[in-house]
Amino acid sequence: MDSKHIKYLSKKDAISAAKKLIKLTVPNEEHLKIKVTDRSYVPYYLCSFSINAIFKTSVGVIHSIDDSSAVGLWGPTVKENNLIWDSEARVPETNLVKGPPVGKKKPLGYNSQKIVELIAPDLIRRYSANINYTGGNRVNYTKFCAPRAKDIRFEINEVIYFPLWEFEVDYLGKKYVLSALQKGDHFTIFNSDLNICGCGKKSEMFCSLCGDVVCRKHSEICEVCRKPVCSNCFSTIGRLPFRKKICNECKNDRKLMANLEKDLKNKNMLVIGSLAILAIISLFLGVYLYSTGFPLSNPCCCFTGLVTAIIAWLVFKK
Ligand SMILES: [Zn+2]
Ligand SMILES: [Zn+2]
Ligand SMILES: [Zn+2]
Repeated sequence: MDSKHIKYLSKKDAISAAKKLIKLTVPNEEHLKIKVTDRSYVPYYLCSFSINAIFKTSVGVIHSIDDSSAVGLWGPTVKENNLIWDSEARVPETNLVKGPPVGKKKPLGYNSQKIVELIAPDLIRRYSANINYTGGNRVNYTKFCAPRAKDIRFEINEVIYFPLWEFEVDYLGKKYVLSALQKGDHFTIFNSDLNICGCGKKSEMFCSLCGDVVCRKHSEICEVCRKPVCSNCFSTIGRLPFRKKICNECKNDRKLMANLEKDLKNKNMLVIGSLAILAIISLFLGVYLYSTGFPLSNPCCCFTGLVTAIIAWLVFKK
């Protein structure tokens, strides 16, 4: 983590950063409204530790640990309006924590004792080992050597307070929660209900009419106005092969619908006409071939003509 570049943003800059986090198709940017609803801080404790332990048996020292290193630990989220004085939280005077967020107050976070409680089990596991040694009786033994919590010394070197921004994203009156942790110029989504369609799949877009977020399967493009809409905001009109998917807005436009229906009727008439001509040709062909003495031709052509006529009637009866 590049902790040297933590900086605190204005609300305006945070909002433009939040906009970039929304990876959905936004049909109309004008309907997208984002506001900051809360800002908390998440402390990150940079701690150094040293660990010293000696393991003895009747034959003397069989193992020893002498090491020092550093660890980082995320603390609990601190609400901005819940900042209270905590005499044990150490906020060093570095350029990382000057000015906002905390002013003269220090946020309540973990004290050193709490950090030991949280980190020690992990370090104990990391430094534990099975040690083989030979006893005074020349028999080989194995002993599990684990350091104890009191063998570890901790020091909190630095606490960095990462702003956790909470936004309300509003699209056509539908409200969503988006929260993101700011690390310098980089934002990581912490929590968001923007990215899940009602079916549980990853959402891809906002519906142009109701503002719902939906996945690809639950979205359609209106074949008239080309607006992307959710599956609740579109209907189909007409029959195959002239079926049309249209959005509810276009469906409620009476003039548009009257034109569309007229157009569909014309197309249907064209198909009925073509099928009728095909049926007549089949019948005449049957009669002609029969007159030339071609075997079985008449029943075959008559059958085809009849089937064509029945299909035309079944598909396009209205
Ligand atoms: Zn919709
Ligand atoms: Zn879906
Ligand atoms: Zn439409």
